[in-house]
Amino acid sequence: MNEKVAIIGGGIVGASAAYYLSSLPGGSQISVTLYDDGAGQATKAAAGIISPWLSKRRNQRWYQLAKDGATTLMTLARQANLATDIYHQTGTIITRTNEKDLHDLYVLAQERQADAPDMGDVELLSAKEVQQRMPLLTNPQPGIFVSGGARIDGGALVTELLAQAQRVNLTVKHERVNLDGDGNLQFPTGKQHFDHVIIAAGPWLNDLLKPLGIKAAVRPQKGQLIELSVPDYSTQENMPALMPEGERDFIPLGYGKLIVGATHDDEAGFNLTATPEATQDLLNSAKQFADYLTADNVTKVKVGTRAYSTDFSPFFGRLKSHPQLLVASGLGASGLTTGPLIGRLLAGTLIYGGTPDWSNYEKPLSDYLS
Ligand SMILES: Cc1cc2nc3c(=O)[nH]c(=O)nc-3n(C[C@H](O)[C@H](O)[C@H](O)COP(=O)(O)OP(=O)(O)OC[C@H]3O[C@@H](n4cnc5c(N)ncnc54)[C@H](O)[C@@H]3O)c2cc1C
Repeated sequence: MNEKVAIIGGGIVGASAAYYLSSLPGGSQISVTLYDDGAGQATKAAAGIISPWLSKRRNQRWYQLAKDGATTLMTLARQANLATDIYHQTGTIITRTNEKDLHDLYVLAQERQADAPDMGDVELLSAKEVQQRMPLLTNPQPGIFVSGGARIDGGALVTELLAQAQRVNLTVKHERVNLDGDGNLQFPTGKQHFDHVIIAAGPWLNDLLKPLGIKAAVRPQKGQLIELSVPDYSTQENMPALMPEGERDFIPLGYGKLIVGATHDDEAGFNLTATPEATQDLLNSAKQFADYLTADNVTKVKVGTRAYSTDFSPFFGRLKSHPQLLVASGLGASGLTTGPLIGRLLAGTLIYGGTPDWSNYEKPLSDYLS
């Protein structure tokens, strides 16, 4: 009899797991049902920059996961034949105001390049050269161009991955589900047993684990970003994404669109209301680089909820106490980068079994669950 797998959550982790369960050898024999209620999903609200290589985070496990995650996305883009409005390798430019900081970052980029061929070429650019590559900037700063950097549209990516898996072995249900104390899915009409359940529910993991008496060390963080309408340069579709100092990134899209994000609001947790204060704050950041922007340029505001673990690291794997359950959460601000790899690892362990060693990517799962 075919094995039955449920996935709870249709963000980047759940959708990637579903895609790999349909496309890895042996996966198509499994019958998969994905439940997603979609509210607050970080994936569809995300900015979409994939460029982990110049991060100064000292956490080596996170770096390894993010680096291999960026490579997984490149392969996925080819394998799933993703259009450039879903995944586009435009390169990224990381700018610094301080000359020494920029020099140090360039040295780091050259060091990391040796161990990360998918990072591509690295170039040191003057402010004028940055402006030539991104003509929509009026106040450019010197920076480093990394050709392997990419932008993705998280919402469009999960839609495409789910559509491809639905042609093989996936059924998608847009509904909220709960678990009972034994790990069965609980519906108003009764419970349903699955051989395996992947819980890819971002910061909502604790709601699902509560009936099992398990608490995960994960908390919600509200993130808001704005989309602006800007002059449409002929090169805009291929313009790199800009990552200045701080948390505000610039992502030019084709057809005169620009995304600026994002905020990081720990106090607002699961609140999904866009606030004018956050919009103004993002606009002020945008004006520092493109001084012609005004509130009239803002065309859309998006809000999503990130999941953070206590040490800001993703965690994923099989629960020892309930071996039919696999969890993934805590992807934080870089989950579009790490999510597809986590989805692939979880799908692989369901198809091929065994107890894989992921200690190069994460601390033991038990560190995050009590
Ligand atoms: C504003 C913003 C900007 C970002 N920018 C970037 C970026 O530039 N680069 C990058 O790499 N990352 C970025 N991120 C981070 C990234 O988006 C997240 O880390 C990643 O999308 C998390 O994916 P996930 O699948 O774990 O969770 P999610 O995408 O949040 O998906 C979880 C899903 O589970 C569903 N769910 C929960 N509970 C249930 C239930 N009981 N029943 C049914 N469904 C349920 C939710 O509705 C949701 O759809 C950004 C995030 C935000 C918010």
